[in-house]
Order: sequence, then structure tokens, then C-alpha cells
Amino acid sequence: MGSGQLTIDLDAVAANWKALDALTGGACETAAVVKADGYGLGASRVARALAHAGARRFFVAVAEEGAAIRDALGRGPEIYVFGGHMSGDTDMLHDLDLIPMLNSIDQLTRHFEALPKSPFGVQLDTGMNRLGMEPAEWAAVRDLVLSRTPSLIMSHLASSDDPSSPQNKAQVQLFREMTSGCGIPRSLAATGGILLGPEYHFELTRPGIGLYGGRPFTDAKAVVELALPVIQTRTMLKGEVVGYSATWEASVDTQIATVSGGYADGILRSLGNKGHLWAGNTACPIRGRVSMDLITADISHLTEQPKVLHLLGPSQGVDAVADAAGTIAYEILTSLGARYTRRYSGRSG
Ligand SMILES: *Cc1c(COP(=O)(O)O)cnc(C)c1O
Repeated sequence: MGSGQLTIDLDAVAANWKALDALTGGACETAAVVKADGYGLGASRVARALAHAGARRFFVAVAEEGAAIRDALGRGPEIYVFGGHMSGDTDMLHDLDLIPMLNSIDQLTRHFEALPKSPFGVQLDTGMNRLGMEPAEWAAVRDLVLSRTPSLIMSHLASSDDPSSPQNKAQVQLFREMTSGCGIPRSLAATGGILLGPEYHFELTRPGIGLYGGRPFTDAKAVVELALPVIQTRTMLKGEVVGYSATWEASVDTQIATVSGGYADGILRSLGNKGHLWAGNTACPIRGRVSMDLITADISHLTEQPKVLHLLGPSQGVDAVADAAGTIAYEILTSLGARYTRRYSGRSG
């Protein structure tokens, strides 16, 4: 087999959802964020596994993403769209029974005119300055909006991965002020917010990355494994160079394995001369640049020729790869390529 093998453990996704759900009290519901194709892992499979675990509300970024989720789950579960009601979305929102999180007065107007009887939620901006109505806008329309009984009112924390950030307290306080006495279910916390504690939980939480095994939920079970087949091995003599632009030179004779997988598969070029592939629990440093389809790694210290090397697995999780690449696990996951052979393990979904 020439392509990398990506294994996605749906039971681990389900277990992570249950563990995050257990961190909040009885009256607080746990939703699931499955945007960007379920953080790159396959939205349909992941959504089914999460529904099986008990999730009843799902979030996507744009209406188009809701189609795959509705298809996978059938009628019943609620699907919310963070991007709200965009021009051209009306039929899709209506036909697929999606709930837009309305972000502006423009979107409120569009929704109330086009789909006056359809459910909606409201997103408020409490300091991130990305999506949602600001306090003054909200004050102007609050009574009108509440009279139409939104399904959910939410806001999003900008710094919840850092419990010491004063922005968390500022945002939760403003969210409380903007929603006091509204009588509508509220949601503020994504994965990071769940870990900040009960003050941040409200009636619904919306974890994403924690379901898929990334920080800040450090108790998460690993979800992905990525094995890259070794195509060829060779001996580089002292003084020889490897890869494009000859960025690594052997200072002693070196055994090099060339594996199938590269930046076209979402393995970031920034891992060149920085990251590691693994043979079981032995690290093999990446030597030279990451090419489009190939990576070269140092296997001089191995006693046996490996058939595959792992980029992701028990010895190296998504956060470790992200650290080596100078990014975050979210980007590692959502970059996972389309060329891998994908296998789903576990009985969930
Ligand atoms: C992506 C996203 C989430 C999920 O965040 P995680 O950090 O992955 O848990 C929740 N809410 C909003 C608005 C988002 O954009």
C-alpha cells in the first residue's frame, strides 16, 4: 500500500464527549462542534458517533456543512450554524431544518423576513470582535428578539485556553449582563470554557477540539493514528545532503527512510528538519525538507528496517506535532489530507 493510513477511533471521540459532559452539572447540556468536516476527521462518521454517545445538538460553521450532518443524523437532532443566515441560505436552512445563529441586525432582518416561523439563535459579541451583536446593537433589539423566543443565546471566549487571562472574567461578566433575565438557554463555553469551571457553563456547552483529542482537554483520549509507509531506505555517506535545497547534511554516515506522505497530505512544511516520525516508541528525526509527497527521516539508530513510520500515534499526539510545526492541533487535524486510506475503528457510529 502506497498511501498513508489514517485511523480514526470513534469510540475515543464518544468517550471524550462523555468525559466533557461529565465535567458539567446535571442541568447543563453538552453539544458537539463538527464544523470543518468534524475537524478534518469526517463529519458524518463523527456526528453519528457523537449522537450515539448522547449528543443532541450540533454546531457547524456554515449552512452547507449542515447538509452532511442532517444526512448522517436524520431528523431530530438540532443543527446550529455559527455563520448565521447568509444571503442565499434561506432554502437550505428551511429544507434541512438548520438553526442559524444570527450575528447582526442585517441577519435578524433577513431571517425574520424570509423565515418568520423558523427557529433561530443569537450570537453576542462579548469582546472577541469576530462574530455577534455588540452590546449597543443588542440593547436596541433585545426586547423584539426575545419576543420571538430564540432557541439559544451564545457568545464565544477568546482566551479560554489560558485560565489566567483576565479576558475570561470580563467576557463572562458582560455575557451575564447582556443576557440577564432573558429566560432563554445560554451557551458560552467551548472546550476551554468547560475547563474554566461552573461559572462558565450556563445551560449548554459547545466542545470541539476536546472531542478530537487536543489541548486544552489534556485528559482526552487520542483519536487519530497516522502511519506512513516506508518506500525506500538508503545510506547517506558523511558529507552528503538530503532533499530539496540540500538543507541537511550528514555529519556521519546516516540511514535514511523515505516515507509516503508530504505537504499535499497536510503534513506541514514547517516540520522539515524539526519534527519526528516514530518507529514504535523510538523517535526518528525528519531530515531535510518535507516534499509534496515524501518525507525523509533518520533511522540510523533503529535495529530493524521499519515498514511504516508514524506521524501520529501513541508516541506522538496532535499537540506534539502542532508544537513541532509551530501551530495548534486544530490546524494539524483540519489539514489531514484526502489522499490517506481512512479507517474508522470502534463500534460507535
Ligand atoms: C470552533 C468553535 C467552538 C469549538 O471550540 P473548541 O475550542 O474546538 O472546543 C465553539 N464555539 C464557536 C463559536 C466556535 O467557533
